[in-house]
Amino acid sequence: MVNMRENITRVQERIAAASRRSGRRPEDITLVAVTKMVPVERIQEAVDCGLQDLGENRVQELLAKQPYINGVKWHLIGHLQRNKVRQVWDRVALIHSVDTLELAREIDKRASAAGRKVDILLEVNVAGEESKFGLMPEAVIPLVREVTGLPGVHICGLMTVAPLVADPEEVRPVFQRLAALRREVDGLHLPGVDMAYLSMGMTNDFEVAIAAGANMVRIGAAIFGARDYSKKAEVH
Ligand SMILES: *Cc1c(COP(=O)(O)O)cnc(C)c1O
Repeated sequence: MVNMRENITRVQERIAAASRRSGRRPEDITLVAVTKMVPVERIQEAVDCGLQDLGENRVQELLAKQPYINGVKWHLIGHLQRNKVRQVWDRVALIHSVDTLELAREIDKRASAAGRKVDILLEVNVAGEESKFGLMPEAVIPLVREVTGLPGVHICGLMTVAPLVADPEEVRPVFQRLAALRREVDGLHLPGVDMAYLSMGMTNDFEVAIAAGANMVRIGAAIFGARDYSKKAEVH
């Protein structure tokens, strides 16, 4: 049996140590607990331990769990299809996975019609992996320029999922590249764009990501234990 409270304490200690090593304060790093495949009873336990930001990678799963958990911020961290935007745009605090102009336009259409603005991150496929979603790094600035003109979306930073490797040191350059890209976008001083968040780092690589400048890490397994993908995602 996984002792969640211990896991959370341990993860928070490791985040704090990594942030201090890179000259930042632990409270400047947001921990997003990734709850995919985790039933709501276990999620509630994590919330009771003080976690306030929850991340789901599927729209249906997020919407199914949301009514059961109160007082938290939900993050959509997985691929978003345009035809699902309508269901989810006003139910999340931050969408981490915008990677096309069409998707940004769809979010803008919904939000603008309601007089609202949705916080988004642009997902970048830094390593150029074929199996992954996300923009190529060279496509980021052109997209930022186009999205800036959309009143219903607010770009708040960049996100990446690094390749899964045995030694996280191998992906340090991936994180450094995203951090450099963030500085580059920031330097353009575009209206309505703020590069507040750099969402990178998961169970296997979050300390390296923080060293490279991450201020938002998305952690599942280190908190909830390893997922069993042979099972169906369950709400209860
Ligand atoms: C599952 C997932 C995570 C968390 O992965 P762990 O290895 O369980 O920490 C982070 N980000 C995204 C986009 C994910 O899908």
